[in-house]
Amino acid sequence: MVLRIGVIGTGAIGQDHIHRITYSLTGGEIVAVTDVNSEQAHAVVERESLRAKVYDNGHELIQADGVDAVIVTSWGPTHEEFVLASIAAGKPVFCEKPLATTAEGCKKIVEAEIEHGKQLVQVGFMRRYDKGYRALKQAVDQDKIGEPLMLHCAHRAPAVTNFNGDMAITDSFVHEIDVLRWLIQDDYVSTQVIQPRRTHLAEEGLQDPIIILLETKKGIRIDTEIFVNCQYGYDIQCQVVGETGIANLPEPSSVQMRSEAKLSTDILVDWKQRFVEAYDIELQEWINSTVKGEVHGPSAWDGYVVAVTTDASIEAKQTGQIVPIEMPEQPDFYKGASAKHTV
Ligand code: NAP
Repeated sequence: MVLRIGVIGTGAIGQDHIHRITYSLTGGEIVAVTDVNSEQAHAVVERESLRAKVYDNGHELIQADGVDAVIVTSWGPTHEEFVLASIAAGKPVFCEKPLATTAEGCKKIVEAEIEHGKQLVQVGFMRRYDKGYRALKQAVDQDKIGEPLMLHCAHRAPAVTNFNGDMAITDSFVHEIDVLRWLIQDDYVSTQVIQPRRTHLAEEGLQDPIIILLETKKGIRIDTEIFVNCQYGYDIQCQVVGETGIANLPEPSSVQMRSEAKLSTDILVDWKQRFVEAYDIELQEWINSTVKGEVHGPSAWDGYVVAVTTDASIEAKQTGQIVPIEMPEQPDFYKGASAKHTV
């Protein structure tokens, strides 16, 4: 069976997903698209040679008989309404992060899905599909380094524009919030934000870098440096310190050079390059599980946990205090096979 997919939002990542589903992956076909900029939606259909209908808005696309499943890649503040409408229509939906821009919005989605009685929602946290993170998780799960005690992480990007206020948390750190919880299978209980000396290369008003300290239920301490104007490259680091050893996130493979009296390897500069394979695997696994009527990836509950942790971290940045993270107990509804997240 070919999964007939409708895409809401044909901007940067929407176009990437349309291209990969059409030309790299199997089992899915883009049959519908929509964007507030309808000219852009038409241009994408033409450029990608799609046999897809352009709908006037996301709600019409969700309701369309010929659409089996929905991908939401529109602007973040629209995600909640399109995910809720997909659940109401009983259609599986893959939503790019954030699931909703508030924890309250994510909670509404969780409640609607439980009320519907069957999981339909997957959130686009693609790091869980990265080969390196999967290898790191395998090392931790197979007890190669004993019980994890501490994690030291870094999320660095060369430079950003129009990135202000809390975006280091809402746009960058959200990926660590999801992937680290998945990596160590533990929940967060508090967060604190440290603001070191500010780089003069950041746009005015942006505190960069920041360090976020999380504590988990088991007492694991996680420090993450978010530095989005580091100049030298796009560099994601993660080190798990266990009772008997240390496991590091592998570096992306690159040819080691001996040249001009130097030993060197390249560092990537673009997040798309860094995670291109992860996006392919993520969407392929989403198509495969959706066809079976299952959700294997990050769930609406995971999206909710990230939103609660994000809100607490923003408060911690504003107040300089250690802020408790209070999560309700995970409902049994989300404790099935999908809670294992297909590793
Ligand atoms: P983008 O280039 O701005 O694309 C968003 C598109 O959605 C734009 O074409 C926008 O049109 C359109 N849109 C806005 N409101 C809409 C509505 N009500 N109905 C239909 N279309 C609407 O942004 P992007 O970089 O692709 O990001 C899209 C989402 O994906 C964001 O939530 C972002 O956080 C997420 N994302 C995730 C990752 C990841 O690593 N997982 C990476 C990149 C992006 P206008 O431009 O005309 O407003």
